[in-house]
Amino acid sequence: MSGSFAHGVHPAEHKEATEHRPIERMPFVDRYTLPLGQNLGKPSNPVVTAGETVARGQIIARPDGFVSTTLHSPVTGRVVGIGPHYHPNGQLVDCIEIEADPYATQQLVRREPVDWRVLSVDSFVELVQHAGIVGMGGAAFPSHVKYRLPEGKRCERLVINGCECEPFLTCDHRLMVERPDAVVHGMEIVASVLDADSVTIGVEMNKPDAIEALRREIGDRAITVVPLHVKYPQGAEKMLIKALFDEEVPAGKLPLDLNIVVNNVASMAAIADAVDHGRPLIERLVTVAGPGVDRPANLLVPVGTPVRSVLRHCGINGETRQVIMGGPMMGMPLATLDSPVLKGTSGLLAFTEEVINHPTEYACVRCGQCLEACGNLLNPQRLARLARAQRWGEMEESYALDCMECGACTYACPSGVPIVHLIRAAKAEIRVRKSRGE
Ligand code: SF4
Ligand code: SF4
Repeated sequence: MSGSFAHGVHPAEHKEATEHRPIERMPFVDRYTLPLGQNLGKPSNPVVTAGETVARGQIIARPDGFVSTTLHSPVTGRVVGIGPHYHPNGQLVDCIEIEADPYATQQLVRREPVDWRVLSVDSFVELVQHAGIVGMGGAAFPSHVKYRLPEGKRCERLVINGCECEPFLTCDHRLMVERPDAVVHGMEIVASVLDADSVTIGVEMNKPDAIEALRREIGDRAITVVPLHVKYPQGAEKMLIKALFDEEVPAGKLPLDLNIVVNNVASMAAIADAVDHGRPLIERLVTVAGPGVDRPANLLVPVGTPVRSVLRHCGINGETRQVIMGGPMMGMPLATLDSPVLKGTSGLLAFTEEVINHPTEYACVRCGQCLEACGNLLNPQRLARLARAQRWGEMEESYALDCMECGACTYACPSGVPIVHLIRAAKAEIRVRKSRGE
């Protein structure tokens, strides 16, 4: 079985610099900045105060409601302040600042494993929230929320995303090659707790070693690895479902409407670590690459590490003009390198002038290439036109809120129309208006 979805684009992969580089651990640095809002939903509430000493893995903020997660200290050290600091999105947000203790061993206390075979859904949801686990593919949706299935829904099919379809990024690839045991065990745990009928993992064919490692680890367990053709944005939930099962998730609907739960491979490993070792999400794999980086790497980085420290560790050359957090298609350019690595940070890409995209915008020539690119079968050029005209009602009727902001349309446009930027801003405006009841 192998497949793909309709439409999409084929940007150059640029994965060769890091796809075979083994995972390395980023050394501890002096200071860490932890935004309270690292997940979609509500920020967590601090439970520590300035001057307090904290241990690595200790809870420093608790969830504020159900769609919110726990935050833990990535190091043993001292809280030096709680206050505004730059989030990678450019906004000032409340953060907990921690100074590392240079004499601490930074050992994480190991806890007794939890018997996952007898875990109830409620206990599992609580465990995942308590471990601070979020979707690690970029969106940082709190994972436990996905496991609290609404009345009338069940997880018939558990789908795991091992596509890593964004150019440059290779950290999920390395995770599957080097820790297939954790990835597969995470799937086994989630499938058991949710009583899933089937488990399927989609991996793009440009990662044959990951496919092999997973298959070897899976052995005779009832988990299917499906190699998929290389195409962007195959990692998007709806595209992945189409590629795996040739089924459409209708516009305005979610995978759960088809009784499908979709997770990322890194979240699976995080769940296995939390269940088997009581390890909270305090560090994550980050691909550091791009022509501005001297020593590209797949690094295990404590959450809260300043981007500047990570880039210094890998060597950043003087030609760098832009640093992107995430992949080049959906990531965000950073306004300051003092921004911290977040739970959702999959990559740090240093770009030189030659590779920064500064397109000159020309008039739309109605070539239809953006329609061809859109895996969601939207009409991007119409949405862009409606966004410019501020025709919010018509945008909604044209399913603008279904746009996953993948940027494939912008990538395909020969006229340099900033389609995804226009749609993203319009979606934000529509949501604000809806919240005001307009
Ligand atoms: S950004 Fe939105 S409109 Fe553009 S291709 Fe992706 S889903 Fe379609
Ligand atoms: S790809 Fe660009 S030029 Fe072509 S129809 Fe879409 S917006 Fe117009």
